[in-house]
Amino acid sequence: MCIFCKIAKGEISSNKVLENDNFIAFHDLYPKAPIHILIIPKEHVECFQEVSGEIMANMTSFIQEVAKITGVDKSGYRLVTNNGDDGGQEVHHLHFHLLGGGKLAWDHFHEDSHKSL
Ligand code: 5GP
Ligand code: ZN
Repeated sequence: MCIFCKIAKGEISSNKVLENDNFIAFHDLYPKAPIHILIIPKEHVECFQEVSGEIMANMTSFIQEVAKITGVDKSGYRLVTNNGDDGGQEVHHLHFHLLGGGKLAWDHFHEDSHKSL
């Protein structure tokens, strides 16, 4: 079972922000912004490329609620999903990063790969 499935089942503890029957939101263990929440479906889905439209549709209002709870719905935030190797996905269970709490930098490319483009 993957690490986020274990978090979804409560077998590994997490600092939860919001949960319902289908989704869970919790603080990232290594935050990259003042607010850094991970939002996952409880069902194991490998990545964004594999997710159904139905799950994504249901996830929308859940993510919006997480933004409200963490107080970034008005100040702004970034929603990111890393997909596959080039996207930098390390945990292969679909998750969205909700980042906020300050002005965010915008830096897409690893320096090495940038040179080869
Ligand atoms: P990825 O690189 O796959 O897009 O993001 C994985 C994220 O999961 C990283 O930001 C990492 O800090 C976070 N992470 C990895 N293991 C754990 C964990 O056990 N608990 C929590 N809360 N976050 C984790
Ligand atoms: Zn999983």
